[in-house]
Amino acid sequence: MSAVTLFSDLTSTQVHEAVRGKVLVWPIGGLEQHGPHLPLNVDALIPQAFAEALSVDVQGLLLPLLPISVRSLPQSGGGLQFPGTVFVEGGTFIDFIGQTLRSLSGLPYRQLVIINGHYENEGFIFEALDQMRQGGALQGRSVLAFSWWSMVRPEWVQEHLPEFPGWHAEHAGITETSLMLHLHPELVRAERPDHDRPPRAGVYQLPLRDDASNQGVLAMTSTASAEIGVSLFEHVREQIKVGVMDARG
Ligand SMILES: [Zn+2]
Repeated sequence: MSAVTLFSDLTSTQVHEAVRGKVLVWPIGGLEQHGPHLPLNVDALIPQAFAEALSVDVQGLLLPLLPISVRSLPQSGGGLQFPGTVFVEGGTFIDFIGQTLRSLSGLPYRQLVIINGHYENEGFIFEALDQMRQGGALQGRSVLAFSWWSMVRPEWVQEHLPEFPGWHAEHAGITETSLMLHLHPELVRAERPDHDRPPRAGVYQLPLRDDASNQGVLAMTSTASAEIGVSLFEHVREQIKVGVMDARG
């Protein structure tokens, strides 16, 4: 595998020509509880890995990961009552992304790809991009922004995850645990909690229920494996590459 080119390793005298006509890849993560078996930065490590792979696949430049996300919600991330979940409010997050993109807009890059790893970020990233589009900061460029799971084809899910609970409930579940077993096995603890009542998608419910999760896990982890992880990683890597080529026009 050839090396990843880091935007941050370039010098100021190099950067303008180095990005000309290139793809800028920006991973956006989060710092959030992921049950008793996974570290707090799962939502950062996974998009970082996909972003590194894409940077190699399309000879793009990798921007530094944005490590702090918007809030965690009980029916998709477990919620804020768990220690270690760190967040900023949605308006701050939108402003941060927008101002970052505005400050990059003087560089002659051709395509921006944002790879998100934290479920609740998605709408805010799209809002920030649309504000930038309206303001003209993305003019002349193509943009592709997505959460990594949006690149998973239904056929892959049917083949590998027969009891799939839906992506909203895949928090600290079989896919994230399997990807972590593939990418960073040294960070995965031995416990594998299951939760047999995954939440419905698109529902916010008060009062919060104590049994909404099992130790912050919303669905199933006991069948996670590095084999599923490597299959999922390679599948998503390929889908991202194809999607990015298509979006270039
Ligand atoms: Zn996660």
